[in-house]
Amino acid sequence: MALVREKDGKRLHVKSALMGESLVSKEFIQSLEVAPQERLYPDVAIMKIGGQSICDRGVKALPEILKEIVANREHHKMLVTTGGGTRSRHIYTIGLEMGMPTGVIAKFGSMISEQNALMIATLLSPWGGVKIAHSDIVKLPTYFSENIIPVMHGMPPYDYFAIKPKVGRIPIHRTDVGLVILADLIGSKTILFIKDENGLYTNDPKKDPQAEFIPEIGAQDLLDKDQDDLVVERPCLEIIQNSEVIEKIHVFNGMVPGNITKALNGEHVGTFIHKQ
Ligand code: ADP
Ligand code: MG
Repeated sequence: MALVREKDGKRLHVKSALMGESLVSKEFIQSLEVAPQERLYPDVAIMKIGGQSICDRGVKALPEILKEIVANREHHKMLVTTGGGTRSRHIYTIGLEMGMPTGVIAKFGSMISEQNALMIATLLSPWGGVKIAHSDIVKLPTYFSENIIPVMHGMPPYDYFAIKPKVGRIPIHRTDVGLVILADLIGSKTILFIKDENGLYTNDPKKDPQAEFIPEIGAQDLLDKDQDDLVVERPCLEIIQNSEVIEKIHVFNGMVPGNITKALNGEHVGTFIHKQ
């Protein structure tokens, strides 16, 4: 980058494309040329173990799922994240009842998903499970060189800065969003949501027995459908659409033995939501 000297000759500046710009102008941002985004760790499979859908089932679901993850350790680099689940919903209910702002509700959510991360890392510790902090994400190569399975809590760290949604005060960026943001950050090609349903339906299959299964859909088409309820948090769809590196996410039923292994190997066992 070129150095420029002020007219009075006293001071040097670094001339750059962003110099003197507000970074707000739509026209400017449209016209700005940027290098394609680097994929930091494309071969790392990133997966969220559902809070409500899996962790809360405890001994009825977790041991089998963790066994399957461990069985894949030789062939896959895996980063595990965790949801919060029913305990988050419990404290959200009380917090909302007591007038807590969105940022405090989000902080509650982080704390609960961290409990689940600690439990899963502890359960995995004989096989290299290590609980890591969000800032440890840049240490992934070190973990994999030591055969570690890193486990991180899934709530994105907006915490007290969580933005109040249009309606209500439940933060919209929760642990599903956390996984999609992380996937965009590391450029992962394998993004897995381990839940308790086969994937996406036209409506919540637990409440609507007529709901139809959707094996594959584009994120934009799903946004346009404007379904009342979804299997992943709604902002995930826009993040996928805006991503330069995410190709698709895979939501599937982790309670079906073998599904995690198949999904890690790229087989289609649930719903693919792809970037359009
Ligand atoms: P997690 O614990 O992974 O965060 P959630 O329980 O929050 O999972 O979300 C998954 C649940 O979403 C499913 O178990 C299902 O009951 C519900 N759900 C709501 N709408 C849909 C839909 N359109 N398709 C599939 N599942 C849905
Ligand atoms: Mg959820």
